[in-house]
Amino acid sequence: MTAIERSDWTPPQDLGEDLAPSVHLVTFGCQMNKYDSELVLERFLARGYRVTERPEDASVVLFNTCSVREHAEERVYSHLGALKDLKRERPELVIGVVGCMAQREGARVLKRAPLVDLVVGTREFPQLPELVDEVRSTGRARVAVAEETSVDVAERPATPAGRQRHAFVAVMRGCDLNCTYCVVPKTRGRVASRPAEDLLREVRSLVEQGVREVTLLGQTVNSYGYDLPGRALKLAGLIDRLAEIDALERIHLVTSHPAYVTPDLIRVFAEQPKLSRYFPLPVQSGSDAVLKRMKRGYTSGGYRERVAALRAAAPDLELCSDWIVGFPGETDADFEQSEQLLREIGFLHSYVFKYSPRPDTAAFAVADDVPEEVKKERNQRLLHLQEESATARYARFAGGVVSARVSEQSERFPTRLMAQTRSGHQVFLEEPDAGQRAALLGAEVRVRVARFTPFGLYGERVVETAGSPA
Ligand code: SF4
Repeated sequence: MTAIERSDWTPPQDLGEDLAPSVHLVTFGCQMNKYDSELVLERFLARGYRVTERPEDASVVLFNTCSVREHAEERVYSHLGALKDLKRERPELVIGVVGCMAQREGARVLKRAPLVDLVVGTREFPQLPELVDEVRSTGRARVAVAEETSVDVAERPATPAGRQRHAFVAVMRGCDLNCTYCVVPKTRGRVASRPAEDLLREVRSLVEQGVREVTLLGQTVNSYGYDLPGRALKLAGLIDRLAEIDALERIHLVTSHPAYVTPDLIRVFAEQPKLSRYFPLPVQSGSDAVLKRMKRGYTSGGYRERVAALRAAAPDLELCSDWIVGFPGETDADFEQSEQLLREIGFLHSYVFKYSPRPDTAAFAVADDVPEEVKKERNQRLLHLQEESATARYARFAGGVVSARVSEQSERFPTRLMAQTRSGHQVFLEEPDAGQRAALLGAEVRVRVARFTPFGLYGERVVETAGSPA
């Protein structure tokens, strides 16, 4: 994308002093959307915009949308409906729908919500500030949803306020796997990995700005590099290179596909101390018949084998899975196999979804034949099992001492800090001293575990004194 200097841009004259120029952005959906929203806001900030908490205070209101479930799209339309009065009062307000729903729906968004000025797909969002200018200068609505444009996100503008300790970095986008229930290949397009040198440069620059932990993001992050020419680095090789950056302390991954759990990826879990031992590895179902109809490309036995190999390499590994209940044709016996697999693997977290048919997917043509009340019941049963599983994972630490990195102060409990272990366990520790609480943010602490729940470990910090064992 061509860089545009701030001096190229003149703020519109008709916004009023209080409203020029400012952006309010609402994000729906997955981590990739949250990351894209961060990039969008950085671009607006670099052009002199400020970010507002309320749409009433903004000159641009954007919705970064999700298409994975119908409910998520309907929520966007209801938010748009709530802006009718504001748009009537201030016709110069620019309202934009961005991301997956924009990509899938295109100009249909304008038909259903005529107050929208801008519909921008998943590959054009870096141009949003320029598209807003275009709408202002022409006074016409604009739809930008071309399919082949690649996203250039390599050059992140430095934020004036500096960086947090943690940053997301998208290493690839899109998906070539075409699971039959999933709209992502349609909305996000084919896999496009970013060259390793660009990523290394970006992470080095983030580390110089104060970042110490990165999450490598991708729709299937472990398929990174397979689309690049020649002997390009795959994810394991990229992690090896990133781990060489001295001040970088931790590398997290979101999210993966079991088909790309290769021997090299298993090796890197064994060998790289900077790699988080929390791994999202969605299985979706425990039934081979359902997995086949989903076109997931593995069996429940294949999944078990990969988990066994990962745990042999990294005994402290914790896993997280997504599950779909009520997929077309799912019988009681199929569902019981999901229950069995969840019990057997012992996930730390699970996200359970009732199947929802989506247009533009292969499964849309198949009858959605599991009744809603059966889906609801299966959903509850799996969530209940997951609670038992998480409780058992946390129970292993009762009475012991864990090391964890303090991430933030609890909003609900003013004397409580929140921390995470390298394996993604949530740790809550009491710290009555406000000065200590501030000093401990970002620090590695040792916590004696007094109790546990399905949501984490609770305890007090072990204060090391001279002569304490290391
Ligand atoms: S792997 Fe399957 S579920 Fe995941 S993004 Fe690709 S098509 Fe969707």
